[in-house]
Amino acid sequence: MPVASPPRPAEFDNPAIPEIATTDVPLCPLCGQGRFHTFATGYDYELQTSRNEWRFVQCDACSHVWLNPRPAISTLSTIYPTTYYAYNYATKINPIAVKAKEMLDVAKMKSILAHLKRAPRSFLDVGCGDGRFLKVMEKKGVPRERDYGLELDAAVLEPLKKAGYQVACERIEDSTLVPECSLDLVTMFHVIEHVDDPGPVIRKLATWMAPGGVLAIETPNLDALDQRLFHDSYWGGYHIPRHWNLYTAKTLARQLKDAGLEPVATMYQTGHSFWMYSMHHWMRFEGNPHPRLARLFDPIGSLAFLAGFTFWDKLRGLLGFRTSAVLMLARKPEGA
Ligand SMILES: [Zn+2]
Repeated sequence: MPVASPPRPAEFDNPAIPEIATTDVPLCPLCGQGRFHTFATGYDYELQTSRNEWRFVQCDACSHVWLNPRPAISTLSTIYPTTYYAYNYATKINPIAVKAKEMLDVAKMKSILAHLKRAPRSFLDVGCGDGRFLKVMEKKGVPRERDYGLELDAAVLEPLKKAGYQVACERIEDSTLVPECSLDLVTMFHVIEHVDDPGPVIRKLATWMAPGGVLAIETPNLDALDQRLFHDSYWGGYHIPRHWNLYTAKTLARQLKDAGLEPVATMYQTGHSFWMYSMHHWMRFEGNPHPRLARLFDPIGSLAFLAGFTFWDKLRGLLGFRTSAVLMLARKPEGA
């Protein structure tokens, strides 16, 4: 399907917005082949950190989608400014939305635990933030000396470290935080799409997992209604230029199998913020922009619409539709 690139929005001609350095990724990060076609194009609609036009490409061999070129590693502090919402979520979002998110998180963990053969005695959360899942698992019986977290924002880790949780500010690839073959459960929610080379990351996690242990991984799902509606540029799940690898359930399963793990369950979580950002970007940047209308769809600060889209996507998930957030569980084979 040919991709209709939207014209460059005038905002991105602002000389105050930098053109940033990029790195070519000529080989498919999933299968290693070098033939691909343009899948989508766009700008940093959300944070306007760079004026570059960005491009997602799709592998002709395995259909994996990745950002090519992507921002150079030297530009990470530009594309993740200190105001990035993931760093101070609880202070920016309405307290009712924070409470609702907590309830959704507990429900998510419950649905994961329902698929395990035994109660986990050790746990790792990759991208653990303020440690909310470490605390959930402590209540489920994981002692703090086997309750691990990795997080790249050092400031949020201090209180966790003092409280005796096993946390470190390290990339998985470089980390020695966890003994090999020791973990019963690993969670990685909305992290893999930010990673430059997912293969070695999943393989490293697999070496840390105990035989029979489970990895639960959640990431944007390309095979969803909102993705199809906003395919060419505005889909919120693109999170341009901060998402570098994008999956369907099929390509995600291949990524896990390549690391020696067996996919055992696929679930769909709410993708409400992708719906909202898609609507926001479309209204804000397409043709005759409607910035005031667009603001209603900004998930940060628009409680009524956030609640509406969360309910809508929760309902769709319950009715068996594939939402734009896929959660896959994969087991390390016994005897591996
Ligand atoms: Zn490929």
